[in-house]
Amino acid sequence: MDMIAVRYLKLHKGDMLCFCQVVLGLEPNPVNLAAADEYIQSLKARGLLDLDEEKSEYIVYCDGLCEPNPGGIATWGFIIKQGKKTLHQSCGTAAIGKEATNNVAEYTALINALEHLNSSGITGKIIVKTDSQLMANQLNGTYAVRSKRIIPLYQKARALMKKLNARIVWIPREKNADADALSVKAYCQELEKSRLEKAKTITDIIKTGPYEYIINGKYTVKLNSRPFCTCPDFARHSGRFPIRCKHILAALEYQAEGR
Ligand SMILES: [Zn+2]
Repeated sequence: MDMIAVRYLKLHKGDMLCFCQVVLGLEPNPVNLAAADEYIQSLKARGLLDLDEEKSEYIVYCDGLCEPNPGGIATWGFIIKQGKKTLHQSCGTAAIGKEATNNVAEYTALINALEHLNSSGITGKIIVKTDSQLMANQLNGTYAVRSKRIIPLYQKARALMKKLNARIVWIPREKNADADALSVKAYCQELEKSRLEKAKTITDIIKTGPYEYIINGKYTVKLNSRPFCTCPDFARHSGRFPIRCKHILAALEYQAEGR
């Protein structure tokens, strides 16, 4: 491909249409392309245009958690971005019990993100960002993988990264807050599953106000924008993992039934 074709192609990439033709109404000849290029550079310099290079680049933020680690509930989350646009995000449970570790959660997040990219047929520059130093170092070959649990996950991740020509970089935790929030969301959903079952057995519900209920004659539930309960289970989980206790879930069910 010659220089002109390459530059013409570059103008066509990204969100901005080829303004040589569309905006300026000019033929895409070398002189006009040079002028167009100069104009693009001036827009970039004034911060009025996202870099073309950034737009064709996919950034994958992935994160996982395990509480308690190991042996608790391991969940994952990932976000795929192109420029400032979020293309896809997802979260779920990686493992529960003896198979659950932080590293299993991190690898599951990565593999699920790569599998999504693979099945979407996305080609382009893919950069995976993780706050797991362990996983980044293992995939970059700095650390050896010894855990029997991790080896198959590592091999799968490596194969997908090779296929997609993706590379992985470490970022500090605070730069990965959105992916972290997704794994927290998945964790809370997992914790709520058992409470949802228990909520179904609660029959002693008395409505005491528009959004207020007394459950089992003992706990007060308020269904405000942020539901609240006076029980110890709710208080215990009001920190990093704010879950809805069985009383809140029962009250919500009661409210949904319009009783
Ligand atoms: Zn409660």
